Amino acid sequence: MDITFVEGSVSQKHDLEKLERIRAASRWLVAVGNCAVWGCVQKGGCTNCSAAEKMLQVYGKDADFDVLEAAPLEKHVHVDVRLSGCPINATQFLSVTASLLQDHLPYITSKPVCLECKLKENPCVLIEDNLPCLGPVTAAGCGALCPSMGAACYGCWGPCQSPQMDAMAQVLTEKGYALEEVISRLGSFGAPAELFKRWKPFNENGAAVKGV
Ligand code: SF4
Ligand code: SF4
Repeated sequence: MDITFVEGSVSQKHDLEKLERIRAASRWLVAVGNCAVWGCVQKGGCTNCSAAEKMLQVYGKDADFDVLEAAPLEKHVHVDVRLSGCPINATQFLSVTASLLQDHLPYITSKPVCLECKLKENPCVLIEDNLPCLGPVTAAGCGALCPSMGAACYGCWGPCQSPQMDAMAQVLTEKGYALEEVISRLGSFGAPAELFKRWKPFNENGAAVKGV
């Protein structure tokens, strides 16, 4: 196959077996959507419990699943292109496909959503409305969809390159958002836990103890 597009995270053993066969048979493998790129909500939802425990809670002890911890595709196989988004952007999908058909790896920006938001000259909902907008640490590509509608970005494209998590947490906590909520928002689309680990554990006032 020239190009294979794979959606979803690897969360059961048969997913992994299928993925390895697909990788072996594909010239280009494209991870499509936040689940495939970051692991998304099923990974984020298992931060404090194992995937097996989660399955047990949902399906009961008679459920027979060969569960793996939900993970992005690139944890298991080489991925040529990571096409994030929840959902992805149709224009970006077409442009990536056109590049690969000409045997070129496409350019995908790793800048934050704020860049697209400012190019659209949107008012900043973080500054002006005190909304918990995650645009400064979220990968661009959606065209700043939510802030363009007056809503906060909740991070569905996953983190941008080198996200300034400390600064983001500081701004949001100064605006009255609890750090636990900030971490929950940042982590709910599968952003790697390493990005937050220096904020844990919290002291008795709920503030982060840094450098742990
Ligand atoms: S509204 Fe959000 S995405 Fe837009 S500039 Fe402000 S923080 Fe960035
Ligand atoms: S603005 Fe944020 S939450 Fe909204 S679509 Fe874009 S990345 Fe997703």
